[in-house]
Amino acid sequence: MTDSGKNINDRDLQTRIVQPKDRITPGFESFSVPVARASTVVFPDLATMRALTWSDDSKWRYGLHGTPTTIALAQRLAAIEGGEHALLQPSGLAAISNVYFGLVKAGDHVLVPDNAYSPNREHADWLAADFGLEVTYYDPMTGAGIADSIRPNTKLIWLEAPGSVTMEVQDVPAIVAVARAKGIVTAIDNTFSAGLAFKPFEHGVDISVQALTKYQSGGSDLLMGAVITRDIELHKKMKRARMRMGIGVSADDASLVLRSLPSMKTRYEAHDRTAFALAQWLKTRPEVAAVLHPALEDCPGHAFYERDFEGGAGGLFSIVFDGRYSAAQVDAFVEALELLSIGWSWGGSHSLAMPYNIRSMRTASQWPHEGVLVRLYIGLEAQEDLRADLEAALTKAFA
Ligand SMILES: *Cc1c(COP(=O)(O)O)cnc(C)c1O
Repeated sequence: MTDSGKNINDRDLQTRIVQPKDRITPGFESFSVPVARASTVVFPDLATMRALTWSDDSKWRYGLHGTPTTIALAQRLAAIEGGEHALLQPSGLAAISNVYFGLVKAGDHVLVPDNAYSPNREHADWLAADFGLEVTYYDPMTGAGIADSIRPNTKLIWLEAPGSVTMEVQDVPAIVAVARAKGIVTAIDNTFSAGLAFKPFEHGVDISVQALTKYQSGGSDLLMGAVITRDIELHKKMKRARMRMGIGVSADDASLVLRSLPSMKTRYEAHDRTAFALAQWLKTRPEVAAVLHPALEDCPGHAFYERDFEGGAGGLFSIVFDGRYSAAQVDAFVEALELLSIGWSWGGSHSLAMPYNIRSMRTASQWPHEGVLVRLYIGLEAQEDLRADLEAALTKAFA
């Protein structure tokens, strides 16, 4: 765009509204990343436009594929986990989907842990039913035993540590060692640790998936996901799929996540302190048969948590009620809670509780507990208030 030197006021008001001459940003400095909203990205000339390649992450070509705001967020997310590249997605589930569509095709075989985030299972079942993928669910505690499930066409192994809802901590290095020896790509859903407490790339995992909807947002007010990698070829494969599927995120949502990132570690530690104290207390309650918190010995894979995690378990854990209580009684407990709300998702300031029937969610491993499981998410409320609320609800439902 050239400036004719023409006085702005010589032009029609409509033109002046569309093309005002004020430029807000040059010379302005602040701590926030500006919200760069764009569908169209404007090029100074054709040579600049033609020199751009789709695979260059540092340049913007079209709003869907990135703006300075989303590029800044992607870079900061990659840095948190020790990755090199990140692809932003409109949800955590979209990030999971991007891994499938970027890396596997009809006739390929994928291994998914039996305790995976259930929409991942649903996605895998859909690809198996309608798109010719072979999918096998495996016992999350199998470790090196994963070798028995590998086929000549196995292309991808999913991991999740701890697993969604039931919190088993996998022996990630043992599974990765088997995968690496056979040239199979590994992808971990690392949402639980926010990329803070577990560093997948240090353990040889190829891809880390984050639901930024959780701790990275911290506000329970947006949906976003990320696919993080070190390897440029893997990144490019998924980036190509993302582009072909027309997936991008808004700069406004990205700026909200950028705003929350600096406090994420402090929040994670605060959630962890309160949640661990409440988990220990719940373990002493006669109504509770097991507390599934990775830092407690009740939790399968506790030893792997001790070995591989640094920086706590955040706010999420589950309790299993004694088998003598009916599902209706457990429902009454959840509904009696006043400070813990009923709702999906987690990672914000507010505490949550949700009952689950785990037996109906398993196909490859035996769920050992009789009673109903309730997943708790401990927010940023005061520990004493949460404990009093839990205690009152226990008394009301089970007395
Ligand atoms: C919430 C969640 C997701 C999906 O995130 P959305 O943004 O809600 O799609 C994926 N994996 C895990 C482990 C989650 O908890």
